[in-house]
Amino acid sequence: MAPPYLCQVSTRVSCGACCGLYNISNLAPGHLEALLTGRVEAFARIPRVAEAIEDFGRQQLGWTPVERPFPQFHHCPYVGLIGAKQTRVGCLLHPEVPGNQGRDWRELSYYGAKACQTYLCPTTERLPVGYREILRAGFDHWYLYGHAITEYRLWSAFFEELEQRIGRRVSRADFDQGSRARDHLQHFAALKLSWPFRRADAPGPCHFFFDDALYPRPGVERGDPALPDSPFETIFQELESCFREEAELRRAEAAVARIIEALVATVRI
Ligand code: SF4
Ligand code: SF4
Repeated sequence: MAPPYLCQVSTRVSCGACCGLYNISNLAPGHLEALLTGRVEAFARIPRVAEAIEDFGRQQLGWTPVERPFPQFHHCPYVGLIGAKQTRVGCLLHPEVPGNQGRDWRELSYYGAKACQTYLCPTTERLPVGYREILRAGFDHWYLYGHAITEYRLWSAFFEELEQRIGRRVSRADFDQGSRARDHLQHFAALKLSWPFRRADAPGPCHFFFDDALYPRPGVERGDPALPDSPFETIFQELESCFREEAELRRAEAAVARIIEALVATVRI
């Protein structure tokens, strides 16, 4: 059986994180969706010739705020919304996009056609296949899915903790459509978007997950060096946490434990 493909999942769930989708300063869902909608409308009006497509890219980057969370990481001006009703993110240069008439224009991208056609992020290799299947099944919208799917260390720590508590492996069947488990999974993913214990100098929800160590995630910051390690240390590191005092650490532990316990109650047989 082919390994689960994470980039395009359903009519509403897909990812463009490696295209730099989230590498912009204003990541509010409404703003990002409006940016992409405007981009798709503008792209539909241009002739499909290299010069016009490149001009379009330059104009789009002009609209994008220059203060990116990761200045040395790109934001591709060709990531947009695709599908019959444009309900998921995808590449506007892909041959299947209406107007491209089967022509693959990804050679015009910043990284070049080969990178765009073949790149797979670390999650596809480092997160166990069963966890990847759960994440594919667990989301309803591209915005949260794309923020979550690159976080392979976060999810490994999360699922391992859950499995330890229920005494068995979790599986895709635990997270079937309509299951409360999916809600809890999404609540956990959403912690990343509004984590109240995020370090003041952290880049925000955008994740630099590439292997070149350009922007490594530091360990958990502690205002008081006497603060102990947490059982959720990996989760807190991946959420870019800072705890000034023990009360903050305990609140953070309680927030994570609440979700895991809710999941335990839902999936325990
Ligand atoms: S970040 Fe990973 S899942 Fe997302 S589009 Fe890129 S390769 Fe696919
Ligand atoms: S051109 Fe490449 S980087 Fe840009 S949206 Fe398409 S696949 Fe992503």
